[in-house]
Amino acid sequence: MTKRICWCGAHEFLPFSAEYERCANCGTLVSLVGLSNEELQVSNDDADFYGRQYWLEHQSKDLGFPNIFQRSRSDLTDRNLHWLRTLLKYRLPPAKVLELGCSHGSFVGLLHQSGYEAAGLEMSPWVVEFGHKTFGVPISVGPVENLDIEPGSLDVVALMDVLEHLPDPVGTMEHTLRLLKPDGLLLIQTPQFKNEMNYEQLVATNGAFLEQFKSNEHLYLFTKESVSRLFKQLGAEHIVFEPPMFYQYDMFFAVSRQPIVANSDETAEAALTSTPSGRFVQAMLDLDSRIKVIDADRAERLDQINTLGAQIDTLSAQIAIIDGDRADRLDQINTLTKMIHELQAAMQEKNS
Ligand SMILES: [Zn+2]
Repeated sequence: MTKRICWCGAHEFLPFSAEYERCANCGTLVSLVGLSNEELQVSNDDADFYGRQYWLEHQSKDLGFPNIFQRSRSDLTDRNLHWLRTLLKYRLPPAKVLELGCSHGSFVGLLHQSGYEAAGLEMSPWVVEFGHKTFGVPISVGPVENLDIEPGSLDVVALMDVLEHLPDPVGTMEHTLRLLKPDGLLLIQTPQFKNEMNYEQLVATNGAFLEQFKSNEHLYLFTKESVSRLFKQLGAEHIVFEPPMFYQYDMFFAVSRQPIVANSDETAEAALTSTPSGRFVQAMLDLDSRIKVIDADRAERLDQINTLGAQIDTLSAQIAIIDGDRADRLDQINTLTKMIHELQAAMQEKNS
């Protein structure tokens, strides 16, 4: 049996759970199960791990996600808009964008409508065909190492929930960085493991991060520090962490070999609305912003209602105490009145 090695080259591990160990050198959580580079590839769509069944059955039956047909519709109005906002901040259309692990292709489709020169990549020929048919965008069968892409030609490579699946993150990211222009950037969403996380405590508190423990899929669970280290080692030392869509367990960041410069909202809006289909995308973003305002307003009102409810409870308790006190006093008055009457009666009897 070969000795297990972390992406960072270290082979000293600290215990974490039955499925994972923590690298003593870089702090990444490393799967004990693993998956090889060969197993990542799909040569038989009906039998291989990331083949057709992964998309049709595993995702919905085993993991409880909506199926790929529903997702190709619903992702457009939630995560895809979140990712697009961040992409617009750092690169304007018509930048050249490749999404590795694009699933059903809705984000590539949205990017295409936004005016980007967008393409995708997936491992299963079945899902590649599905995405191509559904969104009319170019999608290739991976891995990325097998594609004929001119080095230094891409503005952005997006990897949403992909980095943690890679058996060789160093090799694949090294190759991917070579495909970027010198100022090109990677846009990445991946689970965020935290140094202070403790397996027993996560189980005891039913922590949100528990669902990231899928040891045959999530091979490396990075911390912010360890992922920064990975890219720094590859010459991409500029990293900007953005608010993740799924803040309970993810991190979301842009990383580049050159300093990352942000566009203003106005510049991004002007670029997006410069094409007819981009205007429709801007309208989706506008709607999404309005919904967020309404949601925030509703949450605030709910907070107020809860605060008022708590105040009413406190007042009710005080009233109950006052009522009890009043009843006691009335009892005392009645007793005293009775005594007075008895005394009066006794005095009248004495006087007569
Ligand atoms: Zn390590």
